[in-house]
Amino acid sequence: MSEPMCLKRLIDVRWPRGVICSACGSSNIGNIETRKPYQCKECRHQFTPISGTICHGAHLD
Ligand SMILES: [Zn+2]
Repeated sequence: MSEPMCLKRLIDVRWPRGVICSACGSSNIGNIETRKPYQCKECRHQFTPISGTICHGAHLD
């Protein structure tokens, strides 16, 4: 499994209805790109769907 697919799966599991801010719950999230932190447009909280390099060497299938 490629890392982008792994990341997408993690996002789907964590936010099945789309990415929301972990601080305020807003779905108005900018900068949703692989390998970059997300930033909430409401409160400017930054967060990432993964911590560290959980995808590396992991078998998630
Ligand atoms: Zn927020």
